[in-house]
Amino acid sequence: SYALGATTNNAAAVAGAAVQVQLQHRRLEGKVAIVTGGARGIGEAIVRAFVRQGARVVIADIDDAAGEALAAALGGAWCSYVHCDVSVEADVERAVGCCVARHGRLDVLCNNAGVLGRQAAPSGAGAGARSGGIASLDAAEFDRVLRVNTLGAALGMKHAARAMLQRRAVGGGGSIVSVASVAGVLGGMGPHAYTASKHALVGLTKNAACELGEHGIRVNCVSPFGVATPMLVNAWRHGVDEEGGASAAPVSAEEVEKTEEMVRGMATLKGPTLRAGDIAEAALFQASDESRYISGHNLVVDGGVTTSRNVIG
Ligand code: NAD
Repeated sequence: SYALGATTNNAAAVAGAAVQVQLQHRRLEGKVAIVTGGARGIGEAIVRAFVRQGARVVIADIDDAAGEALAAALGGAWCSYVHCDVSVEADVERAVGCCVARHGRLDVLCNNAGVLGRQAAPSGAGAGARSGGIASLDAAEFDRVLRVNTLGAALGMKHAARAMLQRRAVGGGGSIVSVASVAGVLGGMGPHAYTASKHALVGLTKNAACELGEHGIRVNCVSPFGVATPMLVNAWRHGVDEEGGASAAPVSAEEVEKTEEMVRGMATLKGPTLRAGDIAEAALFQASDESRYISGHNLVVDGGVTTSRNVIG
């Protein structure tokens, strides 16, 4: 019985040590990241998760008040804010430059900024109106959505890759994670421009992964189903003919709850509610060295929706 006791004690000590190591191990320890669109919604959850896991994070957004407030709340040493419209190349270049000047490097870029956009020209379409569809496509709006969602991510990849490649001599690699969408995998999940922009982003991810792999830089994306952020709540509040993006009003807890209920109703997996934190966990995995052999991958976080025939609308 003495031997058994000793074994038990040893096992407890080993388990205790493992817990200790787990407590000490932070998954992005020592890394420096930029998160675009990090001021609110899914981006905010990603910023919080990255900081919690030991990264120093630069939020790059156009909502200066929200971005600065979040950075201040997380502590200046860990998190800072830079104004950056991802569709403007000079802004993206400056954001990467600010990050490197402040922290000396860039390990992770998370291209999260995105807009849903309107389906049709706003002429006469009232709140909640159904879209006129492809026959009433607004060319200028189509262009705007692709500039933010696709070109914005491409510009992020360009300037992040430049910063990451400069560290090749000291063995630096890097991880680029973009937030795409189930609308980047299936039709019928959003306005035409949005769907085109996210399909393009998934393709861009694969291409960049092919090219940057030889430099040890991994490129992946995460594709969420519906998360009750201001983007989705506003889209359902107004209908897809209204702006549901960056300039949309803040949303109430009641609207969030209602939206979550609708998403749960459409989901294949019954039970859990998809939250921004679930997307942050997927982005964290792709950003960290835990996914060190994964590149060109689209990690779909949809409770099985894309394997079913469910479509919205
Ligand atoms: P959100 O509108 O709540 O937040 C978007 C953030 O991006 C805001 O902080 C906004 O200021 C910022 N932003 C918008 N345009 C920008 C620009 N040009 N430059 C820099 N920042 C800009 O949206 P969200 O739901 O958190 O969406 C985040 C990402 O997740 C987007 O790429 C979106 O397409 C994607 N996504 C969302 C859902 C969902 O259901 N919410 C589902 C699939 C994919």
